[in-house]
Amino acid sequence: MRLSGPDAGRIAVLMLRLKHSLEPGRVVFCELVEPSQNHAREVDRRIDEVVVTYFAKPHSYTTDDVIEISAHGSPVVLRHVVELCVAAGARLAEPGEFTMRAFLNGRIDLTQAEAVRDLIDSQTLYQAKVAAQQLEGALSRRLQPIKQKLVELIALLEAGIDFADDDVSVLPDTKILEHVAAVSAPLDQLAASFTFGKIVHEGLTLAIVGRPNVGKSSLFNRLVERERAIVTAAPGTTRDLVSETVAIGGIPVKLVDTAGIRKSLDEAESIGIRKSMEALTDADLVLVVLDASQPATEEDAELLHQAEIRPMIVVGNKSDLRIGDEGRSFSSEVKKWRLLHTSAVTGTGIAELRTEILRHIGGEEGSHGEAGFLTNIRHQRLIQDSIAALNAAKTAVDEKIPHEMLLLDLYNALRPLDAITGATTTDDILNLIFSTFCIGK
Ligand code: GDP
Repeated sequence: MRLSGPDAGRIAVLMLRLKHSLEPGRVVFCELVEPSQNHAREVDRRIDEVVVTYFAKPHSYTTDDVIEISAHGSPVVLRHVVELCVAAGARLAEPGEFTMRAFLNGRIDLTQAEAVRDLIDSQTLYQAKVAAQQLEGALSRRLQPIKQKLVELIALLEAGIDFADDDVSVLPDTKILEHVAAVSAPLDQLAASFTFGKIVHEGLTLAIVGRPNVGKSSLFNRLVERERAIVTAAPGTTRDLVSETVAIGGIPVKLVDTAGIRKSLDEAESIGIRKSMEALTDADLVLVVLDASQPATEEDAELLHQAEIRPMIVVGNKSDLRIGDEGRSFSSEVKKWRLLHTSAVTGTGIAELRTEILRHIGGEEGSHGEAGFLTNIRHQRLIQDSIAALNAAKTAVDEKIPHEMLLLDLYNALRPLDAITGATTTDDILNLIFSTFCIGK
């Protein structure tokens, strides 16, 4: 239980039996007791044994005085302690309020506050590592020099305008354009990194499609069994697709098996195909499964054709049954695809399949680590706003529009960058961000 604010110490000691007074930065073991007026006999007062940590202002999470009481975890006791605190004048924290205070008091910037939420919400260790980098200030550090360059350009142009009457030479257009490009190039890079960052943050959906009996469910199970499942199988969810999320290379991949619906609805092959179609329109990546032990059918060809709209991996399953030379039984329509041969029965090719999935995702764990990348849609939108304003500035230079107007574009490019770190962010945006936190963080 965490108490923050100038009264934290006063309220906490009402329910602690301490041998000595609380010392900043020290952890003490003591008894948690009912406040003395409630009980006559000392022995009746004890509720729990607890560990108490006192963080004195400003060296605390929120930068206010903070007291943390670690009890054994009984919900009854914890609820009672919260009630005692409220009775003594405390109030319940809003979701994310401790982190919000850390932000408002200037200890962390907004990207770091958001990283706390991402760290808590992370489903894989890789996601946690990415959030931890941002928590440590990686994104803000990357933005800082970009912003600096933009501010320098604004200052130069402002000076030019101020001294226009004194015949001070303003920057030539080529110089201005060079400056603008120096700001927009790294922003473009950051914006591009969101393609991968979004996948890291949100994970992706992989639909397993194919004719009935080609081994979709068996492959699904193979992939799920090999990878540590992070969510349990959920049959009968949306549109009766069986799905399970696994971590592949630290990225949550939701595997959707389209086999289940066919069995529950109809044995007719066309229905299996139709449902597969539905699943693949929702998927980020499609795994088309063919039966390598049989001649490919019209349906296989049709399915491949349909799946082409998505990034796809084609698998020739049941390779253990395959006789003769590779792909002998496949028609030319199917042969044009590079087949990955697997056997869900023997496990052959499953590791290669996993590698192939990772290749499509866009990288092995750590390969994007150093440069850092955008994972947050709010940041992405703001960067794009800034790029759009810089493009407007370029046009303004090309069209010889007065510098006063050009400066408006440059300020429009600066504002979104400030909004990312929270230097200028309106209250409603802040409320929106912190309402997505859980209580107590
Ligand atoms: P689905 O209808 O596409 O989901 O196919 P299933 O996964 O239910 O598999 C259909 C049948 O093929 C089952 O009897 C599986 O045991 C068998 N099967 C699946 N994969 C393989 C494989 O790689 N080799 C062999 N020999 N049999 C397989």
